[in-house]
Amino acid sequence: MFQGKSIRTQWLDERFVELCFDREGSVINKFDAATLQELQAATESIAAAADVRGVLITSAKDGFIAGADITGFPALFASSTGAIQAVFADANKVMNAVEDLPVPTVVAINGFALGGGLELALSADCRVVSTTAQLGFPEVKLGLVPGFGGTVRLPRVASVATTLEWISSGAPRNAEAAKAAGVADEVVAPEALREAALALLRKAAAGEFDWRARRAMKLEAVKQASAEISAVATKTGEAVRKAGVNKHQPAALAAVELIARSALLHRQAALELETETFTRLAQGQAAASLVQIFLSEQLLKKRAKERAKNARSLGKAAVLGAGIMGGGIAYTGANKGTPVLLKDIQQQQLDIGLAEARKYLGKQVASGKLTQQRADGVLASIQPQLDYSNFDTVDVVVEAVVEKLEVKRSVLAEVEAVTRSDAIIATNTSSLRIDDLCVTLQRPENFVGMHFFNPAPLMPLVEVIRGGKTSEAAVATIVKFASSMGKTPIVVKDGPGFLVNRILTPYMLSFMQLVRDGVDFVAIDKAMEQFGWPMGPAYLNDVIGMDTANHVFRIISAGFPDRLRRDASDAVQVMLEQKRLGQKNGVGFYRYEPDPAGKPKKSIDPATYELLKPLQRGAQQLALEQIVERMMLPVIVEAAWCLDEEVVASPHELDMALLLGLGLPQYLGGALKYADWLGLDNVVAMSDRHATLGKHFVVPASLREKAAKGERYYQ
Ligand code: NAD
Repeated sequence: MFQGKSIRTQWLDERFVELCFDREGSVINKFDAATLQELQAATESIAAAADVRGVLITSAKDGFIAGADITGFPALFASSTGAIQAVFADANKVMNAVEDLPVPTVVAINGFALGGGLELALSADCRVVSTTAQLGFPEVKLGLVPGFGGTVRLPRVASVATTLEWISSGAPRNAEAAKAAGVADEVVAPEALREAALALLRKAAAGEFDWRARRAMKLEAVKQASAEISAVATKTGEAVRKAGVNKHQPAALAAVELIARSALLHRQAALELETETFTRLAQGQAAASLVQIFLSEQLLKKRAKERAKNARSLGKAAVLGAGIMGGGIAYTGANKGTPVLLKDIQQQQLDIGLAEARKYLGKQVASGKLTQQRADGVLASIQPQLDYSNFDTVDVVVEAVVEKLEVKRSVLAEVEAVTRSDAIIATNTSSLRIDDLCVTLQRPENFVGMHFFNPAPLMPLVEVIRGGKTSEAAVATIVKFASSMGKTPIVVKDGPGFLVNRILTPYMLSFMQLVRDGVDFVAIDKAMEQFGWPMGPAYLNDVIGMDTANHVFRIISAGFPDRLRRDASDAVQVMLEQKRLGQKNGVGFYRYEPDPAGKPKKSIDPATYELLKPLQRGAQQLALEQIVERMMLPVIVEAAWCLDEEVVASPHELDMALLLGLGLPQYLGGALKYADWLGLDNVVAMSDRHATLGKHFVVPASLREKAAKGERYYQ
């Protein structure tokens, strides 16, 4: 009947028609403009055919439909309000046409039915779902609401309460939950799906149940009192706020408000309200950033996979140093299936390292993610030792001993002598250069940086640092190793602070300058937390530890003496001199006491103000926006320099590293995405305004040129 690139229709027995999604050259089905056009044409051909008794909607892939094709979103969202609304009005016409077919329709959902996939399924009269299926609306995770009628059909098929829950959380539900909510009519084993869906279609076509009545309900307002609807919406809104959704990510609350309002309308008016909300969100900062993050994640995965093709084999690993980092790295590797030799020079440290691993495994057993047997297996695959025995059997070594150049150099030479000539040796240094560390090595081509962030088991980023002599095979092997640990590896060039700590340094310089200029450090923390950071800069120094922070900033500012010079004395230095190391010894900028759960609880310490006074030039109050501008502009400036110097290959990788490594607020999408959002001409104007504060406020010429040409970092 109809044959397209994503959809085909064919006659079945009993004058039923099957409409099958089978996207050419792809393992999944998704909705793009072409697929929507095909759906329209296929629906029209079914509507025009004589004697059709019913339609079965299926997928020829492992899943049903994964959702919309997100690659097209950035260009669409950058177009006009009218253009966005027109696209969704057209899409809704197609979904309506499916819903309004003159015969009964049954969908067989055989796997993921997300976003647009579920919206199509809700346009049909009945849904039969395989036990393996997952149904949901993940749109809020992209800063959006469903746009093909999901907010309109779900409350009329299931209930307003279900709709609020499913859409505001963004979480997919399994088949049983879908059945319980009234979204699925039946749940059957995958092999029985087609027959069960056909059987239901047969019943509907024979008039054994009233599919027309179901359909009529979808055209009207929801049959529930408006006071009840607003009560359940208020409750969901409160839960959303409590879960920490903030003003910077408005989608979940916008969804709640939309659903409550549109439930009272008939289909067309409700669809129009949905499009209006979708468009407003699509033009906002959060959606632009979250969509970009999604696309960048895909890109990063693809790059890591391509790179891993050049990797050497990865059967067994060794970790040197069982301290804070080494213990966590050994556990993470072992937990993902790589046996690890864990070497230290002190038995006590090995005991601490293994105790850490045991603690993480215990948590996973307690939460039901791991069986005790599997946890025991993971622990047994970490071999603690005080010598180099069996180091000739490992493919990769990760060095995580103390951060001292001479110690690391001698340890690295030692380990090179006891490993095979093809073994890759990686260092987890946070501040030393790869090219400075490799001088004692016979095979510097096998040497590379593997920079984890603390705590290693939880932090998703690994910077893979390519030294001047590092081979592609070494980079590829460590990229593969990091990926196998479930981390996101980002390849960066060797240099002071590599990428993430380098960009953190001017941010902290700016913090210390603000303190010097008399701004209250608590006000700075509050401003940055309101702007969306998980913690302000003073608090962050307390968490990192003043000694570590001081050391890292010192080394990095010495690496860029012209642009990132520190004052002779500054706030971090003063705290360190007073042995106020932060959380680790109970006092830094703030004072810490253990709360009932044993976690450090911070309070303001008047002594901090006294200690900072000698540094300060009077007292100054700045508005939140002024603090944010002075803290964030140096981040953008340094990011632009890093891109110019090819520290990292693309804006995508740079921004993802900052999001994953620094905790930069998601809604910014990264430093360069934020610069794009502000407008590069505005960034230049800000830079000119603050140029006298220091060179870390001065944008590179490349940014100025881009601004002059009206370009952006993300085209
Ligand atoms: P740590 O002091 O907790 O642990 C270092 C361990 O190395 C100790 O157990 C020590 O006994 C052991 N060690 C010393 N000499 C050794 C040798 N010759 N052979 C084997 N083991 C030896 O230090 P850490 O915080 O885990 O840092 C380790 C490395 O990770 C450093 O290079 C540090 O810069 C880097 N790093 C640390 C962090 C962090 O936040 N702590 C973050 C990223 C990277």
